Amino acid sequence: MYNTILVAVDLSKDSLKVLDKAIAAANGDNSNIHLVHVVEPVAAAYSMDIYAINITELQQEAISMTEKKLKEIAKQLGIDEIKAHTLLGAPGPEIRNLAAEINADAIVIGSHGHSGWKILLGSTAIKVLHGATCDVLTVHVGEG
Ligand code: AMP
Repeated sequence: MYNTILVAVDLSKDSLKVLDKAIAAANGDNSNIHLVHVVEPVAAAYSMDIYAINITELQQEAISMTEKKLKEIAKQLGIDEIKAHTLLGAPGPEIRNLAAEINADAIVIGSHGHSGWKILLGSTAIKVLHGATCDVLTVHVGEG
C-alpha cells in the first residue's frame, strides 16, 4: 500500500506498538520503513541558568545515545541503519521535513507519548498533521 513509510519513534515503551503498526502497513517489507527520533535542543528544555554545564557536550551525548538506540531498533527489524534518522530540533517540523525529503507516502506516529494524556491527540501528532503532504497514520497508544 505504501512505498516509503516514516515512523516517528519517541523511544518510550509505546514505540513498539507504533512500530508494529508500521510493519503491518509496510506489508511485511521492512525495507520500506525509515525511523526517526528528534532530539530536542538541550538549552531549549531548561529555563534556568545552566551555562556552567558544557551544553554542546551534553547535546552530542544525547545525539550519540539516541543514534545508537535507533540503529539497534533498526537492526532488530532488519532495516538498513542508513534509514535510522536521528535529528536535532523541534519534533513536529523535523518529522514533516524528513518525510518530504525521503518522499515518504506515510508517516506513522503514536497518538500519545511522553507529553501524556492532557489533550485528545498528542502534541507531536498534531504538529505533524498540520502541513503534512502525505498520509499520517496515528496509532492509538496508552489507556482506553
Ligand atoms: P507526544 O507528542 O509526546 O504525545 O507523542 C506522540 C507521538 O509522537 C509519539 O508516540 C511518537 O510517535 C511521536 N514523537 C514524540 N516525540 C518524538 C520525538 N522526539 N521524535 C520522534 N517522534 C516523536
